[in-house]
Amino acid sequence: MRIGHGYDLHRLEARPPDGNGRPFVLGGIQLDHSKGPVGHSDGDALLHAVTDAILGALGEPDIGRLFPDTDPANESMDSSVFLKEAVRRMMARGFSIGNLDATIICELPKIAPVAEAMKAHLASLLDCDEACINIKGKTHEKVDAVGEGRAIEVHVVALLMSTPD
Ligand code: MG
Repeated sequence: MRIGHGYDLHRLEARPPDGNGRPFVLGGIQLDHSKGPVGHSDGDALLHAVTDAILGALGEPDIGRLFPDTDPANESMDSSVFLKEAVRRMMARGFSIGNLDATIICELPKIAPVAEAMKAHLASLLDCDEACINIKGKTHEKVDAVGEGRAIEVHVVALLMSTPD
């Protein structure tokens, strides 16, 4: 078994021309919100944190080293590309997902109504059963940048199991 932790934060801004917010995609699911994440890629903080949890468990370079935000090739990139690379490395090393627990922290949008859709999408990307994935949303009690709706934060813990030969 190997365990990994992933963390990500993205600033939330209004959409252009009032800000630089992208369409709000989280866990590969399009969400309805007046603001969106600022990022070089599509800004999907959940997929970024899941990617880093898996890479961290493997002891491999993190998402920022594999897909630098200085590389124009990653501009507006669908973050499932990053996660698929982490999954490819996981399987090449003979591991699969044991379980994965994600905590999403933001004031809005509300996570509970979309948590099941995110689980289903993540399960397909990770090639595991939905029962192996847990997603929960919390607020930041209106304090600091996250609580003031200016950022979204995600923590993920992933347990990888050695796949039997
Ligand atoms: Mg990120």
